Amino acid sequence: MSGLLRLSFVSSVSDHRDLPELAVEVAVVGRSNVGKSSLVNALANHKNLAKVSKTPGRTQLINLFLLSESTGVVDLPGYGYAAVPSRVKAGWGRMIESYLIERESLVEVLVLVDGEVGPTKLDVQMIEYLQANGVPMRIVATKHDKVKSSKRETRKRDLAAGCGVAQKDVMWVSADSGLGIETLRNHILGVLKND
Ligand code: GDP
Repeated sequence: MSGLLRLSFVSSVSDHRDLPELAVEVAVVGRSNVGKSSLVNALANHKNLAKVSKTPGRTQLINLFLLSESTGVVDLPGYGYAAVPSRVKAGWGRMIESYLIERESLVEVLVLVDGEVGPTKLDVQMIEYLQANGVPMRIVATKHDKVKSSKRETRKRDLAAGCGVAQKDVMWVSADSGLGIETLRNHILGVLKND
């Protein structure tokens, strides 16, 4: 199966209750700089789509991209900006957590982990939070091209172990080389279609 992920930007909200009602959606989450915007652009085959989520004022918001009238992809704010005061961080945390727990149309969360760096403490916290709350998720390891080919096998094993999942449950991608993009795109299309 292959297809197009034609996404169009719809809205940025600070409270998920202000999002339009959808039938199904997939959310993308990860620490800042993990490669989330590059990945969303690569998936949608659109150079600047995710730029909207990076414009000042929107980086801290929940951004919705629609695939159809009733299905979409939600870009959650990147966590772990060093420069942000802890009070603001706590606010983001609550915003993301209530979206993850309460949003009825959410069927799967893609947790992006930097393939070059491996899972950070915040990534592990996010994974454990989703597992504890029974939210279906997939690990997506980014920047595959940045891992030396001689190190890839070890890195794949270590990254999966660090995330507490089996190696087969990690999808490796590179927005730069295009590796894994079509597989992930088809995965998302399948999730949005089958529910
Ligand atoms: P975001 O903050 O999570 O949205 O991350 P960006 O998409 O802005 O990417 C952060 C940095 O990583 C940028 O310098 C990107 O060019 C780089 N980057 C993102 N994806 C890849 C990739 O697949 N390969 C390589 N080599 N660099 C990448």
